[in-house]
Order: sequence, then C-alpha cells, then structure tokens
Amino acid sequence: MKCPKCEVELQTGRIDSVVVDECPQCNGAWFDGGELREAKDQTDPDLNWMDFELWMHQDRFKVAQKERDCPECGVGMVAVDYDDTRVEIDHCVLCEGVWLDGGEFQKIIDSLTEELLTKDLPGYIRESLKEAVEILTGPERLLSEWRDFRTVLRMLQYRVLTGNLALAKALADIQKGSPFK
Ligand SMILES: [Zn+2]
Ligand SMILES: [Zn+2]
Repeated sequence: MKCPKCEVELQTGRIDSVVVDECPQCNGAWFDGGELREAKDQTDPDLNWMDFELWMHQDRFKVAQKERDCPECGVGMVAVDYDDTRVEIDHCVLCEGVWLDGGEFQKIIDSLTEELLTKDLPGYIRESLKEAVEILTGPERLLSEWRDFRTVLRMLQYRVLTGNLALAKALADIQKGSPFK
C-alpha cells in the first residue's frame, strides 16, 4: 500500500491488536475501516467527554471531494473539516478507512486544549476534557501506546463518521456523485 501523498510504500505496524500503516516520509497514517468499526463497538467509560462540546455541532462540518486517492481502493477520498479547528480527515466512503496527515493528531489535541481554555464549562465537563487531553498527550510518544490510539479512533468514528447523521448524509451524497456506488 502506498502513501496517498508521497507515493512511498507505507510501513505496517501493530499496536496491540490494531494495525496501522504509517508513511516513513510524511508521518501520515492510514486507519483501516475495520479497525474503526471495531473501536466504535467497544464501550469505555473514560469516553464520556465525547458527549460534550467537542465537534458537536453537526452543521459545522464541511465535506469536499479530494484528489487524493484511497491507498486501499484507489478511489478519491472525501476531506472532512470541522469549523476553524484546522483538523482535516481524509475519508474513503467505499472502505470507510481514514487517512490522517502527519501532525493531524497534534491538531486534534490542540482543539481539545482550546475547548478547555476558552469555554466556560461546568466542572465535571472540564474534568472530562482535561482527562481526554491527558490521554492524548501522555508521556508516551503519540501512537506508542494503544490506549491513546484507540481513543482517537473512537473519537473519529463516534463523533465524526457515524455518530453524525448530517455528515453521513453529506458523505453519501458525494458518493452518489462518483462512479463508485
Ligand atoms: Zn507520505
Ligand atoms: Zn477505500
């Protein structure tokens, strides 16, 4: 499988039971659709923070067809943006995989941190968010601990890809417009 950005061969790694394909050149990472589905099906009480503010407003998601192709099926991916977070997720509607550019994890962390600093939140929500930031920024290098990794996968799946009905519809509409049904 080749990097959708630089075309070099992705390196397959395994974190616990999760398979990740990373680009040695741009540090982007490919998450298989199956891994995402599996992550979503697991429940974790630590993830209460996802029920609050973060990426909550469905109308603030923007989707756009991208020229970048899915490394797995070769069809054009769809870019998903949220408001002014500058987080961009490349998603393949066909296989439901996700591509994150190198540094995209950091942006997700930044947007969590910003919520924490700027919003006037009730104490318990603040605590949940703080916990989430700690999970994501822990002492271990990012991706080096499967817990961090699973957390991000679940967030992507739950909050962005299937937990959001308006977005799911927009993605489906784009898919209808493509020759791949
Ligand atoms: Zn690359
Ligand atoms: Zn695909």
